[in-house]
Amino acid sequence: MAPIPYDDQNIFAKILRGEIPCNKVDECPHTISFHDIQPQAPVHILVIPKGAYTDMADFSANATMEEQAAFIAALGRVAKLAGVEEEGFRLIANTGFNGRQDVPHLHVHILGGTRLGAMVPAPR
Ligand code: 5GP
Repeated sequence: MAPIPYDDQNIFAKILRGEIPCNKVDECPHTISFHDIQPQAPVHILVIPKGAYTDMADFSANATMEEQAAFIAALGRVAKLAGVEEEGFRLIANTGFNGRQDVPHLHVHILGGTRLGAMVPAPR
């Protein structure tokens, strides 16, 4: 399948441009992290790159090594900031149609603060 072109009207692009607000947890030159608007767990934070990447496939193929390193570092830093590092947490990067990705700007969900359910619930 051909890669999806980046849509700069997606909701996270608007957050990055400051057009809509977010509840920010962390920021670095290459990433921002903010609370999910519809949390699925006591801790539910989204980590996104500032660059225009649709998903993990796009990011891993096209982002600079500096951007990729900053993204990984942000995941660990934010998990620690959120206080879930010790008891454990889950990282999810829904990707594309089969992955049920809703927002076409790369984001990793950090979920924790409770013992989470099954990794892959029955398909709807
Ligand atoms: P996806 O299904 O693409 O992996 O996840 C998209 C996530 O973005 C969902 O968990 C959804 O609740 C969250 N989301 C959608 N719109 C907004 C918004 O305007 N602000 C914030 N903070 N989260 C949003």
